[in-house]
Amino acid sequence: MAVTLTEAKQYVCTLTTGWRFTLPSSVRSPRGWGDGSVLTAIAKPPALYIVGKDEEPAGDSAETLGGGLSRDCYLGSGGKLVVPATLREVLNWTIGRKLAVTTEGKAVKVAPCCHPRQCRSCGEIAGVREVIPGLYLCSGCWAKYVADAKRKARLRGAIPAPRPIPLR
Ligand SMILES: [Zn+2]
Repeated sequence: MAVTLTEAKQYVCTLTTGWRFTLPSSVRSPRGWGDGSVLTAIAKPPALYIVGKDEEPAGDSAETLGGGLSRDCYLGSGGKLVVPATLREVLNWTIGRKLAVTTEGKAVKVAPCCHPRQCRSCGEIAGVREVIPGLYLCSGCWAKYVADAKRKARLRGAIPAPRPIPLR
């Protein structure tokens, strides 16, 4: 899929507990979606498309969305939308995930963007953990950080040098 950044407005929201995210009003208003609107959510992993119920997605998106698993959902107050349970497994999203909301014709596309658990230092995604709240590091960078901190502490004479550990 070609990525065009011109004119395409993107909004970022977060998937919160209860599999809920918020559709920005700038996306809802032009479509006439309000509290209690019945919408159809179509799963096309990793993206979720949302169209008004009984509304045929126009043009390209009709083709894109054919065959996707779809479920009805209701728009809550303030644009809150809960991902239908049956679609959660298919989508494979995780709570806390940042979601990019873009529009594709009549459809609204919601897809995961910037990985939430990405190493702050090198950008690695695998083996990342939250070392302090809000700071994610991969095991490699964390080990380096710890080694560095210990070395600095030793230089200051804060802790005695450990006995060398044989590597082989
Ligand atoms: Zn790293």
